Amino acid sequence: MSDHVLVINAGSSSLKYSVVDARNGESAASGLAERIGESQGRHIHRGPNGETATTRSIPSHEDALRGAIEAFESHGPSLDGLDLAAVGHRVVHGGSKFSASALIDDALVDAVTELVPLAPLHNPANLEGIRVARQLFPGLPQVAVFDTAFHQTLPPPAYTYAVPLRWRDDHGIRRYGFHGTSHAFVSRETARLLGRDPADVNVIVLHLGNGCSAAAVRGGRSVETSMGLTPLEGLVMGTRSGDVDPAIPAYLTRELGLSMDEIDHALNSASGLKGIAGENDFRELSQLRAQGDEHAGLAFDVYCHRIRKYVGAYYAVLETVDAVVFTAGVGEHSGEVRAASLNGLGRLGIAIDKDRNNAPSAGARRISTDDSEVAVFVVPTNEEWQIARETLGVVGN
Ligand code: AMP
Repeated sequence: MSDHVLVINAGSSSLKYSVVDARNGESAASGLAERIGESQGRHIHRGPNGETATTRSIPSHEDALRGAIEAFESHGPSLDGLDLAAVGHRVVHGGSKFSASALIDDALVDAVTELVPLAPLHNPANLEGIRVARQLFPGLPQVAVFDTAFHQTLPPPAYTYAVPLRWRDDHGIRRYGFHGTSHAFVSRETARLLGRDPADVNVIVLHLGNGCSAAAVRGGRSVETSMGLTPLEGLVMGTRSGDVDPAIPAYLTRELGLSMDEIDHALNSASGLKGIAGENDFRELSQLRAQGDEHAGLAFDVYCHRIRKYVGAYYAVLETVDAVVFTAGVGEHSGEVRAASLNGLGRLGIAIDKDRNNAPSAGARRISTDDSEVAVFVVPTNEEWQIARETLGVVGN
């Protein structure tokens, strides 16, 4: 058997796939089916001969995965030739049940189904991806890799909300945290860059993409993270508010007569950068800001202020910090965000080197000055590789 893993990330109207060599992270092929269930869908496949895009109706996730298998046959590489070891599925919410990746069987499917109320948008889509892949790849072991699992090491003071016991005991109301595969990958990679054992390194990871979260990782274990029961809490994101006063929904219900669903939707989809500046894509926002757009300027400032606040908080949680690390779309590409979030923190031993921070580069790199006590890194995240590694770890190859 090879070390190739088919990694599947099924969303409500999309299915991403990639065949990853778990040893070195190389992707032999990848693709994306989007607008599943709409009148016109799109399938992009990237293989050894480049990228092919087809536009057609993709009625279901099953059609999407069948389309992917056909694309492997017609555009390569051959799935038989890749000799897949397993299929690894990204699953968003593993609740308190899953503190590690796990082999998928009927009991796991039931357990993930029970968690649907905690992730009503994500878990059903992930389950559909699992159902379809088990059907189309019946001979391969399948593994669930949970976004929440890495944060199951949070201690009770970090994961407990100060709310009534019944909510906590009977309804699982606590902080879970998300982006776990990314925080795990990036913190481990940071230890490698420092030339040290992950068990000896304390890291603050800032995952800044469409969704944003911070994690404090002590000796390879997550001890604090910014997302909570759901991925709404914490940092300011593209369309999500992050932290707000929890009294705001009740106030809006009383004052504006808004329903809970309307408020939930607004906080998840019409807030964050979009709520402040009308634009959630960071590249577009940066352009607007450069043109002097006031709202875009404020959105940028609020976004960076929140990051800075979390860095300070996690510094106190960790007591000793070896590195602060930026990752994901914005974290990897926006020198402006990195500088605005960490400038002036010399007293904390954090000093960014301006030239290193602004140098265009796509790779993992150190952007702090040589004498900065705390190293600052940019580390491209690679969730597919992490999922492939964990999948292979579970199937015991
Ligand atoms: P991700 O969820 O990691 O794919 O990140 C998506 C976010 O990263 C979007 O807001 C993009 O606008 C942003 N992004 C991607 N490339 C850049 C870039 N070169 N500069 C600034 N933001 C970027």
